[in-house]
Amino acid sequence: MSETKLVDEIVPKSFEDLIKEVHEKGLCGECGGCVSFCSAAELKAIEMPPSGPPVYSNKDNCLHCGLCYLVCPQTYVLNDELNERFNYRVSIGNRKKITSSQSTSEEVKRRATDGGAVTSILLYLLDHNLIKGALVCKKEGPFKRVPFFATTRQQIIEAAGSHFDLSKQVSGLEHYDTFIPTITKLKKIVGTDMMNIAVVGTPCQIHSIRKMQELSILPAHVVKYTLGLFCNFNFSFDAEARKKIEDKYGFAFEDVESMNIKDFLALQLRNNETIVIEFQDLNDIARKACFGCRDFSNVYADISFGGLGSKDEYTTTIVRTNVGEEIYNAAVKEGYLKEPIDLNTAVKKSEMLAKVISFGKRKFERYKETF
Ligand SMILES: Cc1cc2nc3c(=O)[nH]c(=O)nc-3n(C[C@H](O)[C@H](O)[C@H](O)COP(=O)(O)OP(=O)(O)OC[C@H]3O[C@@H](n4cnc5c(N)ncnc54)[C@H](O)[C@@H]3O)c2cc1C
Ligand code: SF4
Ligand code: SF4
Ligand code: SF4
Repeated sequence: MSETKLVDEIVPKSFEDLIKEVHEKGLCGECGGCVSFCSAAELKAIEMPPSGPPVYSNKDNCLHCGLCYLVCPQTYVLNDELNERFNYRVSIGNRKKITSSQSTSEEVKRRATDGGAVTSILLYLLDHNLIKGALVCKKEGPFKRVPFFATTRQQIIEAAGSHFDLSKQVSGLEHYDTFIPTITKLKKIVGTDMMNIAVVGTPCQIHSIRKMQELSILPAHVVKYTLGLFCNFNFSFDAEARKKIEDKYGFAFEDVESMNIKDFLALQLRNNETIVIEFQDLNDIARKACFGCRDFSNVYADISFGGLGSKDEYTTTIVRTNVGEEIYNAAVKEGYLKEPIDLNTAVKKSEMLAKVISFGKRKFERYKETF
């Protein structure tokens, strides 16, 4: 009698496949999602090196379980499941509401990148004991931000913005990368009593967390709220590329106080001058991995935030999930956030929506042209 198989044998892809399909094609965004799972589950087969994609730290520990492959945002597996769960709609995902919002706190507004909406929602969550803390990033010395788990109001406020404290030391830097691997910190929270946390992240980071949640695996079980940032690309450049931009736009990076990305990159100089750099001039310094990325507006976040489409000092805000709607409405009702009165015309909201859709489509086109 011939043996009957109960199920077809499926050989899961493993870290070797990530190396072939993602790393070797230059698509690894160094988000740390794969390592976060592998180390949170105590498998400890892979690690993030000081720079570059993850590597084996102990190959013998690898169980070939394939979960690192599944959670990687650049593999685009599990997307049908996520699209169904998050009611994905072409081309910028589900949206219960799109609006501009602004913090009501002068201190937050002063520090924030745009309207301080992200920081104010985090403050609302912390003040109401809905979270124990938030994964954000903070400034650490000149020209450097690092992932950071903020557990107090002051720490959340200090993490606001994306200001880079550039100083003379920048001229000595060989290489600079604007990407911050926030979710690598997640694994450190596992095993503590921090069960409810919020994460602020770029689309690739939120994507990886959602995949972990879909698979019900560590360490995403501690994440209760996801606040997603729009993202066109991050930059990675050395002294030569930096000089090219300085020469073309007539400024020195030493004089930059802060940077903001909307439909262009705006550099605020110490003397209050603003240098506007068009995206097409940034292609040379954009990270290659970002050209393999298809999501601009952070489609799987509870709420997404960007500067694009809003006037200065306001944050374009897309409320996507029930959870997102609940906290956004409560933060407005309790006076943490406000919306501009003149936005409440259908025309202005349509303009805002059209801009976000057009950037979303452009990013997708960019991916198709590159790969
Ligand atoms: C790398 C990057 C690229 C972006 N690209 C665009 C774009 O192309 N178009 C656009 O409209 N908007 C873009 N944004 C979003 C925009 O710059 C603002 O972050 C967003 O509008 C929220 O503003 P806010 O004032 O409400 O946030 P804030 O209240 O200032 O809070 C920002 C929060 O984000 C955290 N944070 C900052 N940088 C990072 C990072 N790299 N990773 C994870 N968390 C971080 C801070 O710690 C803080 O908690 C980008 C943001 C980043 C970080
Ligand atoms: S143990 Fe699993 S998650 Fe860790 S590297 Fe191996 S295949 Fe990936
Ligand atoms: S999960 Fe992130 S760090 Fe890991 S291979 Fe994918 S892009 Fe790279
Ligand atoms: S474009 Fe932004 S979201 Fe996409 S890989 Fe680059 S940093 Fe991540």
